[in-house]
Amino acid sequence: MVKISLQIKATLENIEELKPSGPEFRWYLKFTCNSCGEVSQKWNYVSSDNYTPSIPNRNSVHHLTIKCKLCSRENSTTIIENSIKSYTAEDLGKFKEIVTFDCRGITPNDFSPREGWIVKTSDGGKEFRDVDLSEGEWVEYCDKTNKAVGIYEIESNFERI
Ligand SMILES: [Zn+2]
Repeated sequence: MVKISLQIKATLENIEELKPSGPEFRWYLKFTCNSCGEVSQKWNYVSSDNYTPSIPNRNSVHHLTIKCKLCSRENSTTIIENSIKSYTAEDLGKFKEIVTFDCRGITPNDFSPREGWIVKTSDGGKEFRDVDLSEGEWVEYCDKTNKAVGIYEIESNFERI
């Protein structure tokens, strides 16, 4: 079992906090198979709402199980409980770990942010739900603070821990 953290870095404009919604949030990832080195072309998602019991340890679960197309090995990933964190205004300009995966047989190599983010604007402004970051950026207007809000230049990185 290998623990791998996903780190993100983004530019936030008048935003206090960026976080994934609840357990239904889907982390879209691409993986490399550790046995044969096959790099998946397809995006797969890992979500706490989507699980299968792990065998033989039935007390734990897998949030994604995929079979490698090349070597047919069954690999899996689990989101580590309580590892999900927000990216905040204090993290600006640096990478921050926002989730950690327990990976068995696969290594994530790419992340696509997509939908389901919650954005809290600064100075007591609005909270936007179900924000879509698929385009790599997001721009809105907060009518409570009368300020433009935005998320730009999203970058991601993986780190073995
Ligand atoms: Zn393989």
